[in-house]
Amino acid sequence: MAGKAKGLLERFRDGETVICAEGYLFEFERRGYLQAGGFVPEVVIEQPELVEGLHREFVHAGSDVVLAFTFYAHREKLRLVGREADLERMNRTALRLARKVADDTGTLMAGNICGTNIYDATDPAWEPKARAMFKEQIEWAVEGGADFIYAETFFAYAEASLALECVKQYGKGLPAVVGISKHRGDLLFDGVPLGDALVRLAEAGAAAVGLNCGRGPPTMLPLLEDLKDKIKVPLVAAPVPYRTHPDSPHFMTLKDPDGKVAFPLDLDPWLCSRSQIAAFSRRARALGVRYLGLCCGNASHFTRAMAEALGRQPPASRYTADMTKHAYYGTDPTLIDFNTQEVCKNKF
Ligand SMILES: [Zn+2]
Repeated sequence: MAGKAKGLLERFRDGETVICAEGYLFEFERRGYLQAGGFVPEVVIEQPELVEGLHREFVHAGSDVVLAFTFYAHREKLRLVGREADLERMNRTALRLARKVADDTGTLMAGNICGTNIYDATDPAWEPKARAMFKEQIEWAVEGGADFIYAETFFAYAEASLALECVKQYGKGLPAVVGISKHRGDLLFDGVPLGDALVRLAEAGAAAVGLNCGRGPPTMLPLLEDLKDKIKVPLVAAPVPYRTHPDSPHFMTLKDPDGKVAFPLDLDPWLCSRSQIAAFSRRARALGVRYLGLCCGNASHFTRAMAEALGRQPPASRYTADMTKHAYYGTDPTLIDFNTQEVCKNKF
């Protein structure tokens, strides 16, 4: 037991930047433990030891937050895959795993709610259904001992606002961090400008607001530049680690060389390098981002690059590259210097 971790609000008050590693769905899909398409975190109850292991690995790499893997563990997604009977067990198991790792490592544990996939601008019937979905997940998070709630990946202000309202109503005073996923254009799905939406969420009591998922660093940074002076609470930035660009600001429209949509299985050629993640992290912090993470596509090496870019030395930094020991590029005096020998010169 590492003792009680410093709270989220205290960290913000002290001007600290909080790192939150995400991307569990994509990582477990890559490893073969959940299915792309439905993207339901079935691994939580099928192989909980793997989820606990990835929590530990992300903390090892520098995450300050253990995010309970309840993203898409909501009633609508479980209905879609015929597993509604497992809804509560999936949530409670995810929260128990996250709480355990946070306690062991002295980090914060966040409950996680997200876009419901039922927001419908043409039919107000979505709202009571979404409210019930948020309510049950928030109440499980409270009972599971969450330190705060991360409500994320909303395309409409109305849905983000409802999520925040539900955290306030059912969250027993837990702070809420709210992230919006911004597609192309200036307006959210319900016609609200992004900046207005975030200002309203901050005024309504969110502890931190900003952007998550969807955009990679190249197309999220310009939005953060615009937001930095408008938002009076800590700013959130958790991009996907893909090289989105002006023609495809959101990773769901990145294309293969033959013009086929690359999402979600063929995105690898679009991955950022670690240096690009480090550069983004430094720039985001300079802009005043105080809740910094990486979403779908993240893996431990990116989280370590982010932590080190902020000047930290997480446990995984023990194995940060030391190229002086490399057989070809190394400078260690005990190495054979291939470059001075005619037979092997310029062979790479
Ligand atoms: Zn994501």
